[in-house]
Amino acid sequence: MKIGIDLGGTKTEGILIDDSGKELSRTRIKTEKNYDGTIKGIISIVKKFENDFGNSKSVGIGMPGAVSTDSALVKNANSIWLNGKPFKTDLEKELNKNINLENDANCFTLSEAVDGAGKGHAVVFGVIIGTGTGGGISINQKVLTGKNNIAGEWGHISLPNRSDDEKKFVKQCYCEKSGCMETYVSGPGFASCFNLKHKTNYDSHAILEEFRSNDQRAIEALDIYVDHLARGLSLVCNILDPDIIVLGGGMSNISYIYEHIDTSLKKYIFSDTFNTKVVKNIHGDSGGVRGAAWLS
Ligand SMILES: [Zn+2]
Repeated sequence: MKIGIDLGGTKTEGILIDDSGKELSRTRIKTEKNYDGTIKGIISIVKKFENDFGNSKSVGIGMPGAVSTDSALVKNANSIWLNGKPFKTDLEKELNKNINLENDANCFTLSEAVDGAGKGHAVVFGVIIGTGTGGGISINQKVLTGKNNIAGEWGHISLPNRSDDEKKFVKQCYCEKSGCMETYVSGPGFASCFNLKHKTNYDSHAILEEFRSNDQRAIEALDIYVDHLARGLSLVCNILDPDIIVLGGGMSNISYIYEHIDTSLKKYIFSDTFNTKVVKNIHGDSGGVRGAAWLS
């Protein structure tokens, strides 16, 4: 029996699975936007599962951000009330069990590697392209965390080979760097590329609506989007050379990506052959919480 918890900015979801990955129970609560409330919410989910199904040895939690390897305090979380807090230690004290905390993109990747679209592949690169952009690496169904807990953090590298035109529109990222992948391939990033070019104020859904009615500007915007994605992923392929790349998040539902990314990627890969598939996730919105459970 494995408990996984996905801590989001607005909701916290818990899942209980058996060793084969079969879902036994699921619950969802509103995330309290303060530290004590977040801790209490997680305790209430664990207690609920344990009352119904018996005790667990450990709990896996997926969250935005990471735990600093130096201080053991949370860093880089967009649930900002967690930053600088000894979240793992406090939860272990309260629950008297081992807590495995992991970045939510890493949880997504693990979930897809264990029994999702990356099943059967040794090296899986998972990509989140939604409101934000993140990435994770799974090797033999284990998360690769790295020396500084940032392995696979793909959203905040610079878009490679930026053209003069692209450099003209310097995009400031919330991380305080500029030109980050997130500012091009997240949903809001995709929309802002379109809006900068056409002096409009669309969101990504409105552009996709235009795309479905064969609007030329929207088709061009998606071609540019696929090219941006391919440039970023080519960097990963040239260094890690994963067996498969699995996409998740809202933008991963666009089938046009899968029809065209292969051709775009081949332009940027340092190899005469390129057989790596880019595929859509299988577990959808459950990837984060299922991956958290596999940590436990
Ligand atoms: Zn950034």
